[in-house]
Formats: sequence, C-alpha cells, structure tokens
Amino acid sequence: MTTHDNPQVKLAHLDAHSFADWVGAGDATVLVPVGALEQHGPHLPMGTDAILSERIALAVAAATGARVAQPITYGYRSQQKSGGGDHLVGTTSVDAATLIGLTRSLVRSLLEQGVRHVVLVNGHYENYQFLYEGVDLAVRDLGIGADDARCVLLLSYWDYVSEETLEAVYHGSFPGWDVEHGGVLETALMLHLEPQLVRMDRVVDHDPAQLPRFDRLPVVPARTPSSGCLSAPRGADAAKGRLLFEQVVRDLAADLEAELGGRPVSAPGAAPSSDAAPSSAAAVG
Ligand SMILES: [Zn+2]
Repeated sequence: MTTHDNPQVKLAHLDAHSFADWVGAGDATVLVPVGALEQHGPHLPMGTDAILSERIALAVAAATGARVAQPITYGYRSQQKSGGGDHLVGTTSVDAATLIGLTRSLVRSLLEQGVRHVVLVNGHYENYQFLYEGVDLAVRDLGIGADDARCVLLLSYWDYVSEETLEAVYHGSFPGWDVEHGGVLETALMLHLEPQLVRMDRVVDHDPAQLPRFDRLPVVPARTPSSGCLSAPRGADAAKGRLLFEQVVRDLAADLEAELGGRPVSAPGAAPSSDAAPSSAAAVG
C-alpha cells in the first residue's frame, strides 16, 4: 500500500476522540474480522482463521477509508465435514447462542455510536449462519428499515476468490470450500502473510477427506484424517497466497465502494477488476 488517509486503521490503536470525530463525519464503515481458535493440522497455527480475516479486513480498510474493529477470535464449534470436528484437541469453540449474542451486541454497539456501516469479514466456515442471526437481531433491535442509511454486510472471504484465481491456484483440482481446511487456500495465504507461523516441514500429504453426505453425532473420529487437515496443502506457496490475497482484497474493496459509497478507491490495484494480475495493493499492518 503506498498511500491512504488512515494510518490508524485499527480501532484498537485509535483514541476515542479521534474515533468520535470520524464517526461524527457521518459515513463511517467498520469492518469486524471473525475467526476461530481451531486446529489447522500440524503446519498452521490455531489462530489461522482470525489472522487471515483480520489481514484481509486491514487491507480492504486501507483501500477504502474504512476502519477495523477488534476481531472476534473464537468461533462456532468445528464440524467434521468442514473443520475436522469439535473433538480435536486445540479446537476451542463457543456455542451458537454465544456467537449470536456477541455478534448482536457488537453490531448494535457500533451502530448505536453512529457507525453507519458494519461489515463482518468471516474466516471460519461454521460461523456464518450465527453471524447472520446476530446481525438480523441487532438490526431488529434498532428498528432499522430498508430506507435507513445504516446497514450491515456480512461475507466469508473465500466467496471473493474468482474463477480465474481458482484455476491459477488449483489447476482444475479444487476440492470445494468445505474441505479447504488446512489446505491450499489457508496455507498459501499464510505463507504470503505470516510465513514465520507456517511449518512446511510438517505438512502431511493426503487426498481430500471422504466424508458422508450426512452429519453423525457423536462424530466417528476416524473419519477425520489424522493430520486434522481435510485436504492437503499440496502446491501451496507464497506466490499463490499473494495472488489470492490481492484479488480478494481488490474485489472486496470494490464491492464495498459500490455498495456503501464513500470516497473513491485510492490505492493502486484496488480498482474493480476481474483480472488476477498481482498488484501493489499489498499487506497492511
Ligand atoms: Zn481455517
């Protein structure tokens, strides 16, 4: 990132008086990264989901003039078909009511202070519907109607990965987002953003997990690959991570500008584009 107007993109680093001035100007957008503390195999840290959603949120905020709140660093319980299962050591989850309540309180608090737009940037598959419920309740609590300037957006960042990027990263062997747990996407992104936290010497290579179409409770632990990964990070490297990161940030920033208005995208490479060429819209923070 070469230029942006908000060096203090993180609300945690901002003083309250400056925050009040910024919110008072009337068009404040706050991004809330959401993740989990969850096992990600022998080679990735347990905080991967929150680390990635926060890094994406910071880059998007720097490109759009938004700011980033403290992440929600715990997530809804891991499910066997998308995260290996809640029985695995290292996975430290909260239940649905807790995540719904936290989301509801947080969104309501931000909107009550005058923040106009809240954007939840999710990085843990199992969270999504509970975030949705929390947002829906907060919007009802505040009586926000369709003609209100205030709104909340929510998304999971992998939904921004374009077909072109998928092909460039997976070469036709994309296993599906549900089994992308500890696989190519997360490993490549971490190699680009936090390489010191990745242990490629500990990577386990195996085929994507073969799981039934049903969920069974209690889970049959043997159905989860012993690595804890649902697919192998075979072929993941930092260059693919950079491609994924920059394309997702670019397209998400463009979407927020188009949906929420505000000042024009100013960062090089942050303009709307479907081509996946590397740009200079690099990491922030
Ligand atoms: Zn993950």
